[in-house]
Amino acid sequence: MNEYDSPMYSSALAQLDETARLLSLDPGLHERLRHPKRSFIVSVPTAMDDGTTRVFTGCRVQHNLTLGPCKGGIRYHQDVSLGEVSALAMWMSWKCGLMNLPFGGAKGGVNCDPHTMSIGEIEGLTRRFTEEMVTFIGPERDVMAPDVNTNSQTMAWIMDTYSMHVGYACPEVVTGKPVEIGGTYGRQEATGRGVVYTIAESLQALKMKPEGTTAAVQGFGNVGSIAAEDLADMGCRVVAVSDMHCTIHNPKGLDVRDAVNYSRANGSLRGYPQADPLERDDLLYLPCDVLVAAALERTITHENADRLQCKILAEGANGPTTPEADEILLGKGVFIIPDILCNAGGVTVSYFEWVQDVQKYFWSTDDVNRRLRDLMTEAFHRVYRFSQERGIDMRTAALWLGIAKAAAEKVIRGLYP
Ligand code: NAD
Repeated sequence: MNEYDSPMYSSALAQLDETARLLSLDPGLHERLRHPKRSFIVSVPTAMDDGTTRVFTGCRVQHNLTLGPCKGGIRYHQDVSLGEVSALAMWMSWKCGLMNLPFGGAKGGVNCDPHTMSIGEIEGLTRRFTEEMVTFIGPERDVMAPDVNTNSQTMAWIMDTYSMHVGYACPEVVTGKPVEIGGTYGRQEATGRGVVYTIAESLQALKMKPEGTTAAVQGFGNVGSIAAEDLADMGCRVVAVSDMHCTIHNPKGLDVRDAVNYSRANGSLRGYPQADPLERDDLLYLPCDVLVAAALERTITHENADRLQCKILAEGANGPTTPEADEILLGKGVFIIPDILCNAGGVTVSYFEWVQDVQKYFWSTDDVNRRLRDLMTEAFHRVYRFSQERGIDMRTAALWLGIAKAAAEKVIRGLYP
């Protein structure tokens, strides 16, 4: 695996290079930010139900540890590569910087297809991956969280394996755990909810009202389904949602909770009776005010960007828009809420969870949601104001603020030795 051998990592580096130019960043400092602090590749031998042993490859990239532990999700997906994970780790650093959280960025994953594995096999893989990582993670070193195809149960297995290793219960080693073992209220909803807080502020900035606004949501997992529910609760008409198999469309508005229940019961939106089925990617081309991209990275490219018809693009996923597509959308006047701002609710409530675990003092759901809304709204307006003052787009403004914060931390600490 070569971290530089990936379109995503090239995109992340190009963004950093351009922002460093705008910031007139010291070349040595710029060079330090271009490299992850540490990257680990591990073999994860796993006993399969049929009696065979399979060896999966896992990785973890710790991009920045200047201010505290690094923070980022773990994904289980057949496309996981060191390049992809290095890009995601770098974006986590800018996101933590933008949100003023005392963390650096990290990301990790295991190259596997969990949809073809049993629960027991996934548990075995998770525990062995944790064991391979055990000396590199910890509440003051690296705090993992859920991402694509991982969830609160995965985090519980990581917490248990790490705790068995150190000899005492250590909930603060991961976030996104079940509430019963030190998780926080509101973490599961946090990313999708934060996405909708930034959409609400964008509508206000563009002098639009939620009532009568139409929305389409790409991706119907943790982030997309919550975002769709909260958009509907806010008064928007959610006309279409999609998952990896299909799109369902109803121009009069979907009953989002019903679609969530159907998707949970059937493992997919396929066959949902109260809407028209469309090809999966047709969602992107529907006329709508708000498009939420909450599936995976690089779903909006130079090949399809010109066909988008939305006024606002909310990037719930990390890196859903390629740099070429970004140019096209800006040319069309689409207002983009960039990923490091739009989906920062997840890491923000992960921070709240870590704080509660470290203090052994837990907050109510209302406390969590109120603080999340305050931080997301404040960050949105900081980015929006900066973009207006400088005459730059929202992504450039968000990257500028996030990278400047991470760079300032390094300058003040200096270069050791
Ligand atoms: P998830 O696995 O719960 O859901 C992903 C969804 O996308 C699924 O419904 C899947 O069927 C669908 N999907 C996959 N490919 C698709 C395609 N080409 N078109 C349409 N749908 C497709 O994952 P998640 O946790 O919701 O994460 C989604 C994105 O949000 C990822 O980019 C992730 O990195 C990012 N993110 C997640 C969190 C979090 O807290 N979970 C936080 C920040 C960012």
